[in-house]
Amino acid sequence: MSFEVREKDLLARIGRLKTKSGVVETPLLFPVVNPVIQPVQPKRIQIDFGFEALITNAYILKKRYQDQPAQQGLHKFLDYDGAVMTDSGAYQILVYGDVDISPKEIVQYQEQIGSDIATILDIPTGWHVTEQHARQTVNETLSRAKLLFKQKTRDDILWVGPVQGGRYLNLVAHSARQMSKLPFQIHALGSPTEVMERYRFDVLVDMIMTAKMNLQPDRPLHLFGAGHPFMFALAVALGCDLFDSAAYSLYAKEGRYMTEDGTHRLNELDYFPCQCPKCTNATPKQVLELPPKEREVFLAEHNLYVCAAEIRRIKQAIRDGRLWEHMEMRAHSHPALYTAVKRLAKYKHFIEKHSPSVKPSGLFYYNSLSLIRPEVVRHAKLLAERYTPTRQVKTLVLVPQAATKPFHKSAEYRKFRKKLKHEIADANVCFYAAPFGVVPIELDEVYPLSQHETAMPLDEETIQYVTDQTVEHIKRTKPKNVTFIHDPKNWNNAILREVKKACKQTTSTLKIVKIDEIKTLEN
Ligand SMILES: [Zn+2]
Repeated sequence: MSFEVREKDLLARIGRLKTKSGVVETPLLFPVVNPVIQPVQPKRIQIDFGFEALITNAYILKKRYQDQPAQQGLHKFLDYDGAVMTDSGAYQILVYGDVDISPKEIVQYQEQIGSDIATILDIPTGWHVTEQHARQTVNETLSRAKLLFKQKTRDDILWVGPVQGGRYLNLVAHSARQMSKLPFQIHALGSPTEVMERYRFDVLVDMIMTAKMNLQPDRPLHLFGAGHPFMFALAVALGCDLFDSAAYSLYAKEGRYMTEDGTHRLNELDYFPCQCPKCTNATPKQVLELPPKEREVFLAEHNLYVCAAEIRRIKQAIRDGRLWEHMEMRAHSHPALYTAVKRLAKYKHFIEKHSPSVKPSGLFYYNSLSLIRPEVVRHAKLLAERYTPTRQVKTLVLVPQAATKPFHKSAEYRKFRKKLKHEIADANVCFYAAPFGVVPIELDEVYPLSQHETAMPLDEETIQYVTDQTVEHIKRTKPKNVTFIHDPKNWNNAILREVKKACKQTTSTLKIVKIDEIKTLEN
């Protein structure tokens, strides 16, 4: 197996991918190198910026240099000894409609030049196309994929099987399932560039997730044309392991300066918000005064540093179990990204199923966006499917969350216990708490039910979620008696109203205790 997963968080993974030029670590960004016009030389991309891999275009190489890269070998030709991936000309098909090279020729050429990772000549679906056309691109790509295994002669190259279908998700699913049946080592999601250019990151989420749910999970997934570092965290969280980006150099050409959460025009900057070796030694004004070519190189190098740093932050976040927090922070870079993270609601059960259940760190809960994070989804699922009250007792005592955790060791809970001595002695005690909903006292210390910090006051959606969970819990366990400790300061009256309704339905006798009556008790 060429891909080995070491660490996971959400659908993200830190993995090791074995190529014939060495082992590389994922998530991995391949800077796009255009051999014809390249602001930063490949050797420096490796030595000064630390990129273990790059991607270049086999079609352009063949058109421009014919046999020279084949005679020298691609690595020597580029003067680069990391892993080299080649794209096939599919992007040129998207832009120019066609390329004057056959699928077979491009397979042979990539074998001759010695790519480490190679791509078949797929047909990108594009954005403004009919479903019928989209289906054709999927079918033609599939038949070319099948031909590869009759055409290829080397076994040391990792071949990429691209998934097409564009925004037609049924086609993406079909394409992914069929591609998965072929012995590719890597898959890729094709033609997302236009989706990203339009800032339709929500559609991108649908495309990635549809591919992901239908591909073999043990193969790495490459996202073609993932341009800007502000969306790397989202893509990695959804299980994209490999990326290529030409944005660092395209932006540089247009005088644009990347940050991990946005883009600035150089002439609009008074200060550089960056500590890379380029920015620490210059001011925007000085860079603006440079000759155009030098200015472009400056920006390309800065942009590369920003991309590299963001990938490192993401890897550390995976290791720390804090990728959700990191992704949420990046989601604030742009409303379109935030919209995309909201779209994960549609896939919360799949993400939950494949996320690790124990992590090295607790959760930070800011607002209802996090109600779809796997830990919250998992707790609701386990409570509904697996939890039975520990004793055959007739009373359920519902206690509001305390300020300190674990809740059952808090000062508040000690007061409740004193006040409600008789009820609690013979009851199932559960806390109603954000964000998890209902926390039975015996699970209070189980990860992550005490290992989280929640921002107060709670937003409406969070209160509604906890209310729904509480109501469901009452309906599921049908206690004879319910004692509800009401905390109107942190929880509005809706929860009390809904609990009353639920108790009516389950014919449970409801006793309401106001928290103020208890709080005034002496310790
Ligand atoms: Zn910089």
